[in-house]
Amino acid sequence: MVSFKNVHKYFKDLHVINDVSLDIRQGEVVVVCGPSGSGKSTLIRTVNQLETIASGEIWVDGVNVADPKTDLNKIRTEVGFVFQHFNLYPHLTVLQNITLSPIKVKGISREAAEAKAVELLKKVGLEHKKDALPTQLSGGQQQRVAIARGLAMEPRVMLFDEPTSALDPEMVGEVLKVMKDLAQSGMTMMCVTHEMGFAREVADRVIFVDHGQIVEDAEPEAFFKNPQSDRAKQFLSQIM
Ligand code: ADP
Ligand code: MG
Repeated sequence: MVSFKNVHKYFKDLHVINDVSLDIRQGEVVVVCGPSGSGKSTLIRTVNQLETIASGEIWVDGVNVADPKTDLNKIRTEVGFVFQHFNLYPHLTVLQNITLSPIKVKGISREAAEAKAVELLKKVGLEHKKDALPTQLSGGQQQRVAIARGLAMEPRVMLFDEPTSALDPEMVGEVLKVMKDLAQSGMTMMCVTHEMGFAREVADRVIFVDHGQIVEDAEPEAFFKNPQSDRAKQFLSQIM
């Protein structure tokens, strides 16, 4: 479903992604972890071309997203992105946040988009908040709306960039629960997170990134019990 082939990216002199190759199968849940500044956000942002790459290929569902001829709107329909800071439109209601892109980008009728939005809000437990503004919601609720908004485009892949890192601790669980349900529904997911409980329970694979390189790529049990590299051992000792 997602395939990186020898991907490189630079920010000026900084080699932020260094020869990454990675294949993610349909329905697979991959957790990406690693030290701060290692390139995790940049890596997942390349998948929907929030960041361009210097060389290599990135394929999503048979389309080379790094090809300048590829239509970015099409990619962003197929790849949902959930940010650390939710990034909801502050002046729009929950329902409007969710229906905006399906109406504008996909050309779906307002009625159909709203019906779908309500269905998604039920899934994330927020049907009663459809007319609220983002500022009237807790962080956990805003993030659940952001996930519903991503799903409204019926993406093939969902990317998460530290979706619980900006939340108060008591709200982390409700967001992880929605992500777990999504994983169990068969969604292909790439999640940057330091929630190692989620990684252990939900992920099919854990990717450990350091200095823009994939240092480990293993099943969660193997990664946690028996990390191969000193860098991963050190990382795990710091966060667990
Ligand atoms: P992570 O998500 O693992 O913390 P990032 O992908 O955000 O890492 O950043 C990797 C490196 O690239 C860091 O050194 C960061 O400072 C740098 N970086 C990220 N975005 C930019 C940018 N837009 N311009 C220049 N440097 C950047
Ligand atoms: Mg990051």
